[in-house]
Amino acid sequence: MSYTEDRSRWFEGQGLWQQTPASDWNDWTWQLKNRLTSIEHLEKYMTLTAEERAGVLFAGHKLAMAITPYFFNLIDRNDPNCPIRKQLIPRSGEMVISAEEQLDSLGEDEHSPVPGLVHRYPDRVLFLVTDRCAAYCRYCTRSRLVSNAQDYNFHPEYEQALRYIEAHPEVRDVLLSGGDPLLLSDKKLEHLLSRLRAIPHVEFIRIGSRIPVFLPQRITPELCEIFKKYGPIWMSIHVNHPKEATAELKAACERLSFAGVPLGNQSVLLKGVNDDAEVMKALIHRLLRMRVRPYYLYQMDLITGGSHFKVDVRKGIEIIRALRGHTTGYAIPQYVIDAPGGGGKVPINPDYVEKITDDEVVFRNYEGKTFHYPLKSTPVVSPANPVENVVIE
Ligand SMILES: *Cc1c(COP(=O)(O)O)cnc(C)c1O
Ligand code: SF4
Repeated sequence: MSYTEDRSRWFEGQGLWQQTPASDWNDWTWQLKNRLTSIEHLEKYMTLTAEERAGVLFAGHKLAMAITPYFFNLIDRNDPNCPIRKQLIPRSGEMVISAEEQLDSLGEDEHSPVPGLVHRYPDRVLFLVTDRCAAYCRYCTRSRLVSNAQDYNFHPEYEQALRYIEAHPEVRDVLLSGGDPLLLSDKKLEHLLSRLRAIPHVEFIRIGSRIPVFLPQRITPELCEIFKKYGPIWMSIHVNHPKEATAELKAACERLSFAGVPLGNQSVLLKGVNDDAEVMKALIHRLLRMRVRPYYLYQMDLITGGSHFKVDVRKGIEIIRALRGHTTGYAIPQYVIDAPGGGGKVPINPDYVEKITDDEVVFRNYEGKTFHYPLKSTPVVSPANPVENVVIE
């Protein structure tokens, strides 16, 4: 079945884990404990390709492998080209390092005034609170530190970071990320949120998390209560393919929404995963149905061993062009390149403007038809429009 055809179905169920009691299955700590992390474990359930075997054996030197049973069920074990499989199961392409790639391709470490805090933009900071995730995306921008497979030994200094934010009144916006902040205990998370909420100049708090996608069981009523208490807390989730939009994810998004958490989505444009206009359209429409507004579509960062995921930017622009006008603006993410070396996110858009002069702007619509919008006003005085008789009171 194609994921773009079946628009009504929400994937659900325990799949390979039919024998597991539902109380375990729905317990996020059970999901974490039972993650697939070794080649032996993986090969119990599926036949790996030679490329994947080599990739899995190498993963311990780059970015650990971990897949929650819940998310593993979404893999098509008979299809090496499965878009879920490509995101989670390492391949030998990860060993290929290209000249333009870097461990810290966004220059985050240089922009860190204290460990774990990146202050690149004038009014907001990125606060990295952990180096662990529920599962590991093979294209992860922060694979230099995430999972600690490269011995980065990331130790976030919460107190130091909080003191920095307190001392910088220009920081009105704090983005918690990592790793995955929702892997922290409720207690730690509540501590961080309450500290941030207590800083008068911090107006906007948001969390970047892929936990709703990898581990929807983590979105417990207790966690939602914390978001309610310290709200508004905004959240960017990370869904790349319509197949990830399961009944469980939908329910988790509902719990978050009903707790007052506005939801956005960040996708990474990935070769063989979502570099196709129809797949992207299916994804964004599913997101809207889950109350999630597509926010960013990222061009892959130039991280080491990531070139097998890289998509031509012209393809990305073509995908955005295939969406604009053909579906609601609410569904269309902003395509961005995070400038290598640390220039921040820069929007990359299809060009609709043909010409701008002092007189007019000439542009095309989504169907390719040309339109003119005059920039000069040309007053018309006629008997039907007697401007000189108008009395302005
Ligand atoms: C992405 C990012 C942000 C947040 O950017 P928005 O455009 O506000 O979502 C902030 N700081 C850093 C370092 C980032 O990479
Ligand atoms: S969830 Fe985010 S931080 Fe974690 S591995 Fe995936 S992309 Fe990296």
